[in-house]
Amino acid sequence: VLVLFDQDGVVADFDGGVNAKLAVLHPNLVLVEPSARRNFYLHDDYPPEYRDEIGAIECEEGFILGLAPVPGAVEALHAMLGAGHDVRICTAPLSRSTFCPGEKVQWVRDHLGAEWASRVILTKDKTYVRGDVLVDDKPEVKGALVPAWEHLVFERPYNLGAKGRHVNWGNCEQVLSEVEDGLRRPDGEAYVAEGWWHPNTKAGQVHDHPLNPGRSWSVASHGMCEPVYTKRPAKRR
Ligand SMILES: [Mg+2]
Repeated sequence: VLVLFDQDGVVADFDGGVNAKLAVLHPNLVLVEPSARRNFYLHDDYPPEYRDEIGAIECEEGFILGLAPVPGAVEALHAMLGAGHDVRICTAPLSRSTFCPGEKVQWVRDHLGAEWASRVILTKDKTYVRGDVLVDDKPEVKGALVPAWEHLVFERPYNLGAKGRHVNWGNCEQVLSEVEDGLRRPDGEAYVAEGWWHPNTKAGQVHDHPLNPGRSWSVASHGMCEPVYTKRPAKRR
């Protein structure tokens, strides 16, 4: 399985880094503990007067480099790569930070190993990146394109209601093997991804998408697979 892992909030403890700085700057501030998180953006869980300061902390030189790994992440990533999955870190650096992009790559070197630097994909729009699944704590990952991946929601208190399969570092490898099974058609043929040549189908054939109910694939006359949306159920009013 080609699996894209988000970095912040999944592999690197972004919130913990902000809280550590806030604790030094404001010793009397009651910190928002991980279990008390309710909004995707940490600054939205703090009073509004801290918003700019939190934004500045995130952009400081060394902030990203100093983040601790999320417990269980490093071991699980190595295990999944060892199990044969194509594991990538797919992360959107802060546009307003000079240091964030470079430090994100260096963080991966430091915590996962130098050879993992080539597994980092920096992008502001993850829908441009091909993958079977994207493991991300954002409740909904959107962009300019229809994504080729299924979003697996990395469980955090602020995304419990998010659509899709939910994963954590305890069950991720198991869910990936289920995804792998789902990517195989009943005849054992590996399923196709959008835009890929499918050798055993004829033009005009339509297949159910194994992961996204309501989505299906058609095979165009040139033999490439294209998504069709005719099976999407009408919205109820
Ligand atoms: Mg994230």
